[in-house]
Amino acid sequence: MIVQTPYRKYADLLAEYFPYKVQKLPVDGGFTCPNRDGTKGRGGCTYCLNSSFHPAYGPSSLSITEQLEQGKRFFAGQYPNIKYLAYFQSFTNTYAPLAELKLKYEEALRAPDVVGLVISTRPDCLSDEVLNYIQQLHKRSFVMLEIGVESTDDQILKAVNRCHTFSESEDAIGRAVALGIPVCAHIILGLSHFGTYTAREEALRLSKTPISSVKIHQLQILRGTKIAHLYDEAQRKQTSEPTCCQQMFLCLSLSKYIDELGIFISHLRPDIAIERLVSQSPSELLIAPRWGMKPEAFQLLFEKYLIDNNLFQGKFYDSFLCEVANKRTNNDKQY
Ligand code: SF4
Repeated sequence: MIVQTPYRKYADLLAEYFPYKVQKLPVDGGFTCPNRDGTKGRGGCTYCLNSSFHPAYGPSSLSITEQLEQGKRFFAGQYPNIKYLAYFQSFTNTYAPLAELKLKYEEALRAPDVVGLVISTRPDCLSDEVLNYIQQLHKRSFVMLEIGVESTDDQILKAVNRCHTFSESEDAIGRAVALGIPVCAHIILGLSHFGTYTAREEALRLSKTPISSVKIHQLQILRGTKIAHLYDEAQRKQTSEPTCCQQMFLCLSLSKYIDELGIFISHLRPDIAIERLVSQSPSELLIAPRWGMKPEAFQLLFEKYLIDNNLFQGKFYDSFLCEVANKRTNNDKQY
């Protein structure tokens, strides 16, 4: 029996490429980030804690081949005929000379049962030279780019120190897709700028770009991040006045996040696959929100919410509304 879900799942997108189950295996390629080393900025995005990206198996001091072998052992036996995508996740995985990128990507592709790559990066780290090389790789192996868009609102991007704009995301997505490279956009729901956050506008603006999939998660306040200090400060003040913290983010309750996600998905273009709805950082790193719910349980709860409220992906999607949302963000370009 085919069970229809109220949104397009990432597995459906992967099924267009692979006739078997594929599992992403996070690997740490030893990259850094231009928003940390001073090239674009220092200190990184206010919410970033890269140690929360590491997989449950294996330290990142291992070679790429060794990390992939460890990852495969972790998933062995869970599915018959399973194959793998090497997922370059930590930091900015196109931020290195082309020769170094080639060595790392091609080492991953030589690992047995690895049938492709997913490369996570910033929109301002995708030169034509790098994209042309990825296009060549994609002709012989699956390669997907995961671009950290995070928000479509430049004021929000500035508030969280992303050090790039939404138009840079649009440009990178457009150039990659023009070369035939599928793109997943990473987006955080809960970032704000003086309360101007709207899931509806984010979905409409993203829908104007030629992305294949989107990976969504709630803003998480993680220990040791800049945003954690702002959160602590706001908690201490316990004021209803707008605080520095409220200018930059909303720490959403579970029910509010479900509402916002419902708005986002019902305004999203219907062919965009949804890779992830929620994130779960290790408990020892997470300050807030602490919903105490595993992603699988969240998914069931959210799907029930959509069905109960007669919502589904693209219900309110309209290409004219996308134009309006985009125009508004272009008019708001100045910080
Ligand atoms: S979130 Fe990404 S771009 Fe921002 S500081 Fe962390 S690694 Fe760099």
